Amino acid sequence: MSHTVLVTGGAGFIGSNFVRLALGTRPEWHVVNLDKLTYAGNPANLADLEGSPRYTFVHGDICDGELVHGLFQRYRIRTVVHFAAESHVDRSIAGPDAFISTNVGGTFTLLEAARRAWLGEAHEDCRFLHVSTDEVFGSLGPDGFFTETTAYAPRSPYSASKAASDHLARAWFHTYGLPVLLTNCSNNYGPYQFPEKLIPLILNNARLGRALPVYGDGQNVRDWLYVGDHCEAILRVLDAGRPGESYNIGGHNEKKNLEIVELLCDLLDRKVAPLPGGAPRRTLITFVRDRQGHDRRYAIDAGRIRRELGWTPRFTFEQGIEQTVDWYLSHQSWLDGVLDGSYQKYYEGMYGRR
Ligand code: NAD
Repeated sequence: MSHTVLVTGGAGFIGSNFVRLALGTRPEWHVVNLDKLTYAGNPANLADLEGSPRYTFVHGDICDGELVHGLFQRYRIRTVVHFAAESHVDRSIAGPDAFISTNVGGTFTLLEAARRAWLGEAHEDCRFLHVSTDEVFGSLGPDGFFTETTAYAPRSPYSASKAASDHLARAWFHTYGLPVLLTNCSNNYGPYQFPEKLIPLILNNARLGRALPVYGDGQNVRDWLYVGDHCEAILRVLDAGRPGESYNIGGHNEKKNLEIVELLCDLLDRKVAPLPGGAPRRTLITFVRDRQGHDRRYAIDAGRIRRELGWTPRFTFEQGIEQTVDWYLSHQSWLDGVLDGSYQKYYEGMYGRR
């Protein structure tokens, strides 16, 4: 029997990887993808699925209560996987409004629609998985890891809006018994990531011989996970996670930003034609003014999901990054397609030299 899953933000980076994995591994699923197609949403990410009877794309806003409620009724939604968000910290600093309306207001709208649709029904086969970030926990010193019990301490408009949405999701579980699950994941990388985020930004600039902006001293540490591993973890949590609980997801791959940039330069020097004059791509590295309130270090303890649900990442960082570089190099038309004029304007306004 068909099981209808509402995926929000499925035209974005992680959402599109998730939809493809889900439809490839869950033959009984019908995925309804609700996406507003902001600058970060690209229907071309799922062009191969258009026309599939198991895939329906709905162009709309998660803040539109009437639309969202109608989707629950029309498709008898039993599972929600909620990715839709404004997701870029720099944009949240420049203009926080959309982060509050989508990340907080949109999550509220979805929770309410699920509550109204599922209220009074047996909840056994219903799941609302709220996808969140490790950034809600704030910034770590040189030691220690975020666990599921780490106190929330968000420090950017983005992370504060995600923290607020996490609190709403938990409240709907405790107050109304909505079968909510939460995941807090570290930094993802992989195919279809919009080239404002570190890895595709650097790859794109390095292939074009442009300056490679690195914030501050480049020593900020992030914990990197291949997007396919994140998507598998989400499926695992949907299958076996306990409602009301949250699960940290990460790859134990801590890297300094500068290390990542240098690694990408070296990989490109190996894989594509040298720069004019033969200079190594590391010479393009340009230190720029640090991000306001830049968190120093994130690191996830993913022990719980490993112990309780048996999930571990498949890809080492070395495997995942090599695969990612190859994907971007063989999809340069995808990169060119998303880099339209509006992105350029934003980009130029963002990265002043230090
Ligand atoms: P993304 O920016 O690539 O994609 C977001 C998607 O949401 C886009 O398709 C966009 O069009 C859609 N969207 C935005 N506002 C909407 C609205 N009001 N209504 C409907 N759709 C809307 O983001 P991503 O990197 O794929 O992240 C997905 C989720 O995962 C987010 O909730 C994010 O907080 C979380 N997350 C991301 C990372 C990461 O490293 N990228 C890590 C942990 C958690």
